[in-house]
Amino acid sequence: IPPKLYGPARLNSKGMDLTQSAVRERLADAQAAFDADAPYPCGPIINGEALTDWGAPMTSPADEGFQVATLHESTEDDVERAYKAARDAQPGWNAKGGPARAKILRDMADSLEANTDRLLALMARETGKTLLDGVAEVREAVDFLRYYAVEAETKFGEPVRLPGPAGETNHLGLGGRGVFVCISPWNFPLAIFTGQVAAALAAGNSVLAKPAEQSPLIAFEAVKLYLEAGLPEGVLHLIPGDGKIGAALTGLPGVDGVAFTGSTDVARIINRTLAAKDGPIVPLIAETGGLNGLFVDTSALHEQVIDDAILSAFGSAGQRCSALRLLLIPDEIGDHLIEGLKGAMDMLKLGDPADASTDIGPVIDADAYAMLESHVERMASEAKVLHRAPLSDELAAKGRFFSPALVEITSMDQLTDEKFGPIMHVLRYKRSELETVARQLADKGYGLTLGVHSRLDRFAERVRAIVPAGNCYVNRNITGAVVGVQPFGGEGLSGTGPKAGGPHYIYRFASEHTVTINV
Ligand code: GLU
Repeated sequence: IPPKLYGPARLNSKGMDLTQSAVRERLADAQAAFDADAPYPCGPIINGEALTDWGAPMTSPADEGFQVATLHESTEDDVERAYKAARDAQPGWNAKGGPARAKILRDMADSLEANTDRLLALMARETGKTLLDGVAEVREAVDFLRYYAVEAETKFGEPVRLPGPAGETNHLGLGGRGVFVCISPWNFPLAIFTGQVAAALAAGNSVLAKPAEQSPLIAFEAVKLYLEAGLPEGVLHLIPGDGKIGAALTGLPGVDGVAFTGSTDVARIINRTLAAKDGPIVPLIAETGGLNGLFVDTSALHEQVIDDAILSAFGSAGQRCSALRLLLIPDEIGDHLIEGLKGAMDMLKLGDPADASTDIGPVIDADAYAMLESHVERMASEAKVLHRAPLSDELAAKGRFFSPALVEITSMDQLTDEKFGPIMHVLRYKRSELETVARQLADKGYGLTLGVHSRLDRFAERVRAIVPAGNCYVNRNITGAVVGVQPFGGEGLSGTGPKAGGPHYIYRFASEHTVTINV
């Protein structure tokens, strides 16, 4: 750990305290007001103009009878139009300079904070985000904006002077690359959407943003707030749609960069699309999945392991790429920990995400539900399903609620890839097998988060030396990276790096220019 704090100086957003009854009452009012006006029309926003005149109905994953929005899907014509406008607007935006761009990002951050109650209500309905997760989500979006604002000011201001021979001056400056395509996921429909866009804008790019097809409404609201904060209309365009629209965006001949968060498979498709184009080499920033392990040794504090494992595997209904997928426990304490996990699972409350007492909301859609259920079925025959958290029939009938599952595997072969949802696998290991199981996990090829629970530094070092991970957490939960504190991102099948919310991220959105003058 470097002795000096590193990265831009600023404060992270405070969020809100859901234990206060006055806060909960205020949020309940905001939810009632949001629900009363649903469904909300949404669609592309091109040059500041929202296209919402027709739209397909979208229901809530928490309540299939509740219509959240009507979505006007983008067409390939919209993609072309938005691209032309973005191309025209980019030089002016770039020329504004880092400090002027930073001001708009900060105003956008203030505006998100001021609108938090409504945004939480929206996310509870559109993607089934619990209030606790929603508060963290708005905070993260705000933090990204303020973090990249400082980056814009400090790195995209005046060029830096470099050493050189007498009679010559040398300067290095940063600027935008051009038009960036940002494709974001539904699991952080505000934070990752806002963060990608903020970094691209901070660096002086114009942006074509495609939110996940499951979460266009929150992105629609965010773009409106960006424009209200003073962003020029040509600089950011919202292009909601499915994979076909994503392909049209990444296939545009003139795109200068792509930022993508989502599955490893889709990242590969984008990579191939970009590589197949004639013309300039287009950089891809991809943040993808994880097959994240938490290694426990016999010196660990059992209650803390149980708490942290439950939060890491089942928080956000397991729908985080950082989530715990495999808990590795030593034989000696296996039975004890498993009993504790079962007990803790019985305490989990699945329910309406807008209710502050809910721990776990629904999974995102019917496909996700079916994939998870089929994995549990397979595990029931090939491995052993140890426990499921309680789920009432009434709730199961209302939305896509998936009862969190604890699955014991006996061999690393039983775990092939990431299953994005609330399923925790456990594997018991013998002391002599530690290196072998760690290597087997490493061989899966991912490298996102890694947890270690042990009182012995040496144990953590042994595991870290074998298992690659962009983010390693010792003696705590393995999710919820904080902007500027735990820059987030992985390697291998988990992504290209650089880390979001870290001091190197913005460089990938920039081009560098060295100017040498013989005076
Ligand atoms: N940054 C999030 C975390 O640390 C995960 C992001 C994701 O799931 O895409 O939990």
